[in-house]
Amino acid sequence: MRRTLPLALCAALCASTLQAAPFDELAYYKYLHENPELSFQEEQTAATPAGTLTGAGFTVTEGVGGHGLVAMLENGEGPVLMLRADMDGLPVKEDTGLPYASTARATEMNGQEVSVMHACGHDVHMTVVTAAALELMERRDEWQGTLMVIMQPAEERGAGARDMLADGLFERFPQPDYNLSVHTIATLPAGQIGYISGWMMANVDSVDITLHGVGGHGAYPHTAKDPVVLAAAVIMDLQTLVSRSIHPAEPGVVTVGSIHAGTKHNIISDKAILELTVRSYSDEVRETLLSGIERIAVKQAEALGFPEDKKPEVVVKDEYTPALWNDPALVSRGVAAMRAELGDGVLKEIPKEMGGEDFSRYGRTDAKIPSFMIRVGTVPQPLWDKARRGEARLPSLHSAFFAPDPAPTLETGRRAITAMALDLLAAP
Ligand SMILES: [Zn+2]
Ligand SMILES: [Zn+2]
Repeated sequence: MRRTLPLALCAALCASTLQAAPFDELAYYKYLHENPELSFQEEQTAATPAGTLTGAGFTVTEGVGGHGLVAMLENGEGPVLMLRADMDGLPVKEDTGLPYASTARATEMNGQEVSVMHACGHDVHMTVVTAAALELMERRDEWQGTLMVIMQPAEERGAGARDMLADGLFERFPQPDYNLSVHTIATLPAGQIGYISGWMMANVDSVDITLHGVGGHGAYPHTAKDPVVLAAAVIMDLQTLVSRSIHPAEPGVVTVGSIHAGTKHNIISDKAILELTVRSYSDEVRETLLSGIERIAVKQAEALGFPEDKKPEVVVKDEYTPALWNDPALVSRGVAAMRAELGDGVLKEIPKEMGGEDFSRYGRTDAKIPSFMIRVGTVPQPLWDKARRGEARLPSLHSAFFAPDPAPTLETGRRAITAMALDLLAAP
């Protein structure tokens, strides 16, 4: 469905028709927040930055890897800097009570109708990157090189970066010398920036295990092969992978998030299905965990005397997101530039996480492009103070209550990205 922009917002969004109007990042953000779209459906969302950046003089290509867009600004000899934002919302029913809360509905890939919300702050990312791009356009006498702004679809499905790369992102457009990106964080107050050098987010793998058994009557277990008992043994044995197979200083997670088997009390099922999420940083740990899962499933079935033709099936799904590495040299340069712009006390070194973000893919091509994703604090100061006193709980990302304090969040994000860009593209 194509939505028409309210007139009042046009000043903020339709730079092509109102060249003189200043960019209103708050109005732009609220418009995006109110109109979220699901992964792979970001058509209208992409039209907003496309219109604004085209109007400001960027050369915009739409439809790169789905609804992805690439906006180029060539400004003389110099490095190529990529700024990346993601665009998709989540199937969450917003419960923030904000005047600009989303009431959007959409149809999921499985046909289910759902509410949609920007519960991961991708509206913040789009606004920060658009605002920084516009500022860099305005200040183009202060830098030299090429600015490449990308708006990426389907991050929440781990597919958007892969699809944009597969559609020739670094062949049809120049290969960047540096990649910068921004993600909200729900554990820092608005006005602060979090950063990590090195590993920041994990390899994310999904694994399906199908345990085949021989079904039968619950009272005659000796005539059956019970996949529920096998599942229990497999699940307990999986707990030894992280504790016994990998170096104690290397992080890893094996979580069985779903288990399904059987129909009623007195029937032994002929099948049990387990769904796992597996997290790691290094390729070696990833390989150890994935091969260990297969080994444990197969060997436990053997140990319990399951026949050869009932061998467990272990499938590592192809919706893999690689771990995100922040290039230490780029981080220290970026942190210095942000500190010079934002002052002391704004930048916080934050702990690593085992979440996933497919921004990692751009730094993992053969070119090994140095990448850095910053985290922009979002929590309203009064809520932050209450939480510190133990009187409130902070809603996490993906929560129906996630509500960034927009003005300081957006301003800090824009200034941080702009400062790093001006430093990386400094005119000789
Ligand atoms: Zn998310
Ligand atoms: Zn996100």
